Amino acid sequence: MSDPRTGSGEVRVFADYQRDFTEVADVVVVGSGPCGAVAAYELAAAGKRVVLLEEGPPFTPADFELEGSLSMARTMREGGLRFTMGTVMPTMQAIALGGGSLVNSAICNRCPDFRFQEWANEADLARTSRKDLEPHYDAIAAFLGIAPTPDAVQGPRNLLFRDGCKQLGYGSEPCPRNVRECRGSGECFTGCRARAKQSMDISYVPAAIQLGARVLTSVRAEELLSNGRRVTGVAGRVVAPFSGAPGPRFRVEAKAVVLAAGVLASPLLLQRSGNLANSSGQVGEQLQFHPGTSVLGVFPDPVDPIFGATQGYQCLHFLRDGFKLETLWAPPGVLAVRMPGMGHQFKQELLDLRFATVFDAIASCHRSRGRVRERGKSLQPSMRWSFHPDDAAILAHAVWVMAEIFFAAGARKIVPGVASHADEMHSIAEAESLRSRPPRARDMVCASTHVFGTARMHGDPRHGVVDEDLKAHDLDNLYVVDTSVFPLSPAVNPMFTGMALARRSALALAERV
Ligand SMILES: Cc1cc2nc3c(=O)[nH]c(=O)nc-3n(C[C@H](O)[C@H](O)[C@H](O)COP(=O)(O)OP(=O)(O)OC[C@H]3O[C@@H](n4cnc5c(N)ncnc54)[C@H](O)[C@@H]3O)c2cc1C
Ligand code: SF4
Repeated sequence: MSDPRTGSGEVRVFADYQRDFTEVADVVVVGSGPCGAVAAYELAAAGKRVVLLEEGPPFTPADFELEGSLSMARTMREGGLRFTMGTVMPTMQAIALGGGSLVNSAICNRCPDFRFQEWANEADLARTSRKDLEPHYDAIAAFLGIAPTPDAVQGPRNLLFRDGCKQLGYGSEPCPRNVRECRGSGECFTGCRARAKQSMDISYVPAAIQLGARVLTSVRAEELLSNGRRVTGVAGRVVAPFSGAPGPRFRVEAKAVVLAAGVLASPLLLQRSGNLANSSGQVGEQLQFHPGTSVLGVFPDPVDPIFGATQGYQCLHFLRDGFKLETLWAPPGVLAVRMPGMGHQFKQELLDLRFATVFDAIASCHRSRGRVRERGKSLQPSMRWSFHPDDAAILAHAVWVMAEIFFAAGARKIVPGVASHADEMHSIAEAESLRSRPPRARDMVCASTHVFGTARMHGDPRHGVVDEDLKAHDLDNLYVVDTSVFPLSPAVNPMFTGMALARRSALALAERV
């Protein structure tokens, strides 16, 4: 397969652009994250001339920084420090060839059928069900080698989660992930140096290139061009990696545009392109997150958490209660942000890390919604969102369950990361206050990397931006295929469902263009 880094063949990098240029294609795809990459591949496989645009640069193992903050500064938009106003919700979006797949934990869950039924009720959908999407999930799973994480690379910290769940009778299972020959280095967040994670830059993107797709990195789409009910292409600028310094201008003229710039960028591109596809008024609305929080547990014996798949085990037992539980690891500098204390106490917490592991919960929060608008003329988002108290109660319940699992697995203490409660708890009896006096939204240290809703799919053009093929209701040849089209949370990690929907959409588009 082509090496995206060389700049040869059909991948262009910053150094390749000397002057303004124009490309012509059947389809231009904006964004090389999981959804855009799948769409580009399927369209190329159908014989279409595809141009894939990506604002970020390609990364190789030599480019990865193991230190968390340095890594975030290079791979994430705004250094990974974005947050909402209203209720503060930190959130991260990648800027790289492969989008979020470069830095994510590779968890690939299928959205449960009960949630698709809720989507159908919420958004008048007639053919978006688990059954309808199953062939698309299957095709992607086969392509990426998605499989349950084997015990050999779980490491002690993931298996402690399994053991705690088992003690309590909560079903748990190895996370299915898009990896091949994972060696359990726990480095997914800073980039997989082993190239085991099948991120888009080493899977779907090179496969699309082999089928003739042209891939342009370090190019930022700034406007969708249109004429009446048709889009005619995309215009933008070359931007330098990391600094964003502007370079030459470009245009891609195409018979169809596929927008896959992500939940916070796609609506901004529509808004700044003459408020395109927005007769419903829903572009940039319905911003939703999976609010996430974590609990750290310290065990009597060394856990050596540095070894083990980043997120190797999960518990789906509470999906209908509104939350999912997982194991988690990240660079110590990132984990330290949520540790209590200063000076000697803080130092002690860091020393305890060798004996520690982290569990996290993500919650489906349908009552908590917000909106996104452009911040000035920057193409950066200004977000407002509020955490509904009933949704916060779901996450508070999850904190209590994580405490239960830790003590069932033999933890000697937990650090719940809840402002209204003790910094540390040493027994299930001490942790009982998490159940009897549940933390409120403002008490919990939250973050979210799962975002949805800002260009939602809806059967009725008056209430949504795209139809079930992900075609804009208002235009004949514009498709939005990223996770912004989800009408509600998928209950589980979103990437796989986003890709399945993108695949279904790309196959429909291939018939029309
Ligand atoms: C740290 C982290 C861990 C995660 N772990 C998991 C996990 O294990 N499992 C899971 O299911 N989900 C996970 N997620 C979420 C998952 O990565 C996202 O849901 C997924 O990447 C969304 O795919 P997408 O294609 O919609 O958008 P993105 O992945 O955000 O891709 C959008 C792409 O468009 C590019 N782009 C944006 N604007 C422009 C522009 N104007 N011009 C050109 N290009 C542009 C961006 O640079 C980016 O590459 C995680 C996310 C993060 C940040
Ligand atoms: S755990 Fe390590 S080897 Fe496995 S996919 Fe993640 S970064 Fe790669």
